[in-house]
Amino acid sequence: MKILKFGGTSVGSLEALQNVKLIVEKEFSQNEPLIVVCSALSGITNMLLLASEQALEQNDFSRILKSAEEKHYQIISGLLPRTAQNPLLMMVKVSFNEIEDLLFSIRNLGELSDRIKDRLLSYGEQMSGKIITAFLNSESFPAVFQDARELIKTDSHFGNANVDSKKTNENLNNWTLGNHIYVVTGFIASDENQDTTTLGRGGSDYTSAILASGLKADEIQIWTDVDGFLTADPRLVKNAFSQPELSYQEAMEMSYFGAKVIYPPTMIPAIENQIPIYIRNTFQPENPGTLIHQKSEISKGLIKGIVSIEKTCLINITGNGMIGMKGFSGRLFNALARYDVNIILITQASSEHSISFVVNFNDEKKAGKAIREEFEFELDSNKIDEPQFDNDLSIISVVGENMKKTRGISGKFFSALGKNGINIIAIAQGSSELNISAVIERNELSKALNVVHDSLLLSHVKTFNVMFAGTGNIGKELFRQLEREKKNLAENHQIKINVVGISNSRTMQLIDNPESIFNLEIENENSQKTDLESFIKLIASKNLPNLVFVDNTSSEDVVKHYPDLFNNNISIVTCNKKGNSSSFEQYSKFKRLAKKNNVNFLYETNVGAGLPIIRTLNDLWISGDEILKIEAILSGTISYIFNNYVGEKTFAEVVRTAQELGYTEPDPRDDLNGMDFSRKMLILGREIGLPLEMSDVSIKDFLPEACLQAESIPAFYEELEKHEHYFSSFKNEAESSGRKLRLIGVLEHGKINIEVQIVNSDHPFFGLSGSDNIISFTTSRYRNTPLVVKGPGAGAEVTAAGVFADLVRVTAQ
Ligand code: ADP
Ligand code: ASP
Ligand code: MG
Repeated sequence: MKILKFGGTSVGSLEALQNVKLIVEKEFSQNEPLIVVCSALSGITNMLLLASEQALEQNDFSRILKSAEEKHYQIISGLLPRTAQNPLLMMVKVSFNEIEDLLFSIRNLGELSDRIKDRLLSYGEQMSGKIITAFLNSESFPAVFQDARELIKTDSHFGNANVDSKKTNENLNNWTLGNHIYVVTGFIASDENQDTTTLGRGGSDYTSAILASGLKADEIQIWTDVDGFLTADPRLVKNAFSQPELSYQEAMEMSYFGAKVIYPPTMIPAIENQIPIYIRNTFQPENPGTLIHQKSEISKGLIKGIVSIEKTCLINITGNGMIGMKGFSGRLFNALARYDVNIILITQASSEHSISFVVNFNDEKKAGKAIREEFEFELDSNKIDEPQFDNDLSIISVVGENMKKTRGISGKFFSALGKNGINIIAIAQGSSELNISAVIERNELSKALNVVHDSLLLSHVKTFNVMFAGTGNIGKELFRQLEREKKNLAENHQIKINVVGISNSRTMQLIDNPESIFNLEIENENSQKTDLESFIKLIASKNLPNLVFVDNTSSEDVVKHYPDLFNNNISIVTCNKKGNSSSFEQYSKFKRLAKKNNVNFLYETNVGAGLPIIRTLNDLWISGDEILKIEAILSGTISYIFNNYVGEKTFAEVVRTAQELGYTEPDPRDDLNGMDFSRKMLILGREIGLPLEMSDVSIKDFLPEACLQAESIPAFYEELEKHEHYFSSFKNEAESSGRKLRLIGVLEHGKINIEVQIVNSDHPFFGLSGSDNIISFTTSRYRNTPLVVKGPGAGAEVTAAGVFADLVRVTAQ
């Protein structure tokens, strides 16, 4: 026999109920009974509760009641043929009259007992059960309504009653079942006096397990609105995914720690009778969902889920008098139990001088009372200090049965939190070693859940929240590449890039995961004037996980914000050389801040665009190789100019063509004066630990003074023409001896020199073509044959690709 339970949303709309019918049709075999447990229509329990609170406070509750009533009418009229509607409409009318009577008496008496509350709430399940029975009948199913209060017996702990299994099972044994569909009310039961009780919020799940146990059912199916038991609460973690299988213990631990998808006590009768529980999605019935059972062999996957309790209170008791006080914890926990306070987590310092524990937010007052009552003497005589309460806290827990056999999980867990700047207030590992928990500030919970989820559940997509500065050639090209690779990143590398903001020198805009980055209109009605400081503040305040700032500008203004970014735990990926090539002090500060805040600072494209230059150098340096000499051609523009300055063309003509092809800066002198080259050489020097400044770079000017000083770009070209004989003297010298002009930078003995050289055909830089860059590292290991990296070292496409690679490297770490 199977027990099917349908939750509130599964019976709360016409669409859902049509699916319920299809599911029941599939599961009902005609050879045996089928039990269908129903919750109240979605939202109804909450509405009744709210109405009762309004009544208690002498407020008007009629509007709430009206809309609850209306919801039932709408379902009945949309679901049933006209002829079958009347008795149900009557039933709902009568129920709401009774509900109204109850609410009036609450209002008149100014009193609301848990007993009356249970009676009130029970109408939700009674009405939905009757409507669903009639609906199934109207579809020709042999459905019978059954009020659970006649079957499930409990004590009189209203609101959260304890099941009397003996009596309940007796009733269930005596229940004669035909080959029908029995529609049973979830959530409600009754005590010895036949008063209505409830099993706790979410208790319909429990109803199904109680019935399954007493009726020796073969399986329980919990039909809800998600694809099963997910790795995290989908409302908080977008990347949560469904687990195909969980053990009872794992499911229990996760539900106990906040996974609302199943009510924790549900697992107990299921475990006792080894009944498998399936969690399925009413709205995606083809999805297999999650199977919860006693696994014979422990299934794959270390971590099964990340769960949290949002509102908790940490209570800290300290005092010298506690040291060695026998039975202190025993007395404390007994007192708390007397007041019905549930302790979620405990940590005790080994000094025995303090004890901290976490309780539910709602239990804070009760806990305070219990402590005062129990330790009145100790408090009065200052043996223990006044307890401290901190109620702005949440608990985040990692759950998985295989964790106990594996080292390093807690390290990963805590480092994911630390990396994102989340402060850990207390830590506990359950003795079952099924979970590791951390207490954190409540406003950091969402970020914590997401980073921990992404870093511990590696097999699935890791989301990076990225803000972009710069929408010029490189910025646009990067967007194009990210757009093109979106699918590949997600499917093959499990990476999702979520764009959270874009800025350029004029405007900025916060964006939440646009469909297409490339088609983004940065300047539209939502954009504001650029103010990076408030932009960063705003993004940081959202507490997003894995934040990265990508700087595709060449602006000093943007660089000024790097410290602020690092201090907000934001990684930086940049092709902007200005940051690393200003003072050595600034360069070191960025490195220091990135390290201190545990974030990445990646700038491969500062030198040679996408070529692996900095990475190669770092690898040599880290692995202990000694860098003897670095020789390089790092100006693609000058390479292009020299390579094309042959034959009849004048130097001015070649420069002009280079500019027209987009190879030069807007003012070609910014390339020709060697400044850009110097910055790159400087960065390389710093990367091997040399505290170099720009003044340490010696550069022999190639351009005559008059060209450098020309007032405008046209005037500059005129000067170039005038000095053609000067340039051609170099050219002729080179050409006449079969050699070539090259602007070469050399770093040796801690010094940098950049100058034009005329190189022979046996020089490794002789054969360089087009606008390529080349760099050769002579090291202790690569002494005879230097290590050479060569390739296109400029242009939007390769630079954007280099930035892209750095972004992916952040994600890989
Ligand atoms: P029902 O009304 O069907 O009983 P609930 O609202 O009680 O449904 O439980 C299902 C909801 O639980 C989901 O919609 C989801 O938002 C929430 N939830 C929280 N944590 C989890 C989790 N780990 N897996 C699945 N759902 C979860
Ligand atoms: N209707 C009840 C509640 O909202 C029981 C349930 O849905 O499981 O708590
Ligand atoms: Mg539920």
